[in-house]
Amino acid sequence: MRVRVRVLRETDHSKVAHDMEEHAAPVNTENVLVSKKKNNGSLIWRWFGFKTSDEQQKQPICRECYKSVVSKCGSTSNLFHHLQLYHKVKYDEYLHLRATTSATKTTQPQPKTSAPKQSSLEPSFTRSVPYEKKSRKWCDITNAVTYHIAKDMVPIATVEKEGFKLLLKIIDPRYKLPNRKYFASEALPQMYSEAISLFLLCYCLSLFLFLL
Ligand SMILES: [Zn+2]
Repeated sequence: MRVRVRVLRETDHSKVAHDMEEHAAPVNTENVLVSKKKNNGSLIWRWFGFKTSDEQQKQPICRECYKSVVSKCGSTSNLFHHLQLYHKVKYDEYLHLRATTSATKTTQPQPKTSAPKQSSLEPSFTRSVPYEKKSRKWCDITNAVTYHIAKDMVPIATVEKEGFKLLLKIIDPRYKLPNRKYFASEALPQMYSEAISLFLLCYCLSLFLFLL
């Protein structure tokens, strides 16, 4: 499978190279790609551009591998898939950027006056710093994940699934999910013993009230 992908990518590269030859473009393809004219605000366009000859901007080209990606009616879903499939690091960068941008939009309305750019560096740095283990926020999220495993009876291995990790990363990029061993040996036993204690307390209380 890996070999096949490599072959495909090599084919794509040779195809692009062939296209470049056809259009007699300079060797440095990056210079040829122009940004999208009517960007609706989607950050994904940072990783895609268009050939200058494509005036209608109908054929997005990846800035990483220069592969042309089909985009039907301006839809960006294929661009996401391409980045996710071929450029995992860039895709993670995109997710992080999107998460931090949306956090900025919801929590900090941008002032209309043009503040110096440096002032925004500190909060953006803070946003990328992971929560300390055992901090309140970290415990809240970890407890919620533990509760989800126990209540919905999902396998503990869920915490190592890519989709689940991505979900948490988008919800809160600062949260670092502990590994499966932590949930199996610490979080779940602790929640279980707390639940048992609570149950016994309620049982004794109701028995006491019954006997009164
Ligand atoms: Zn690419």
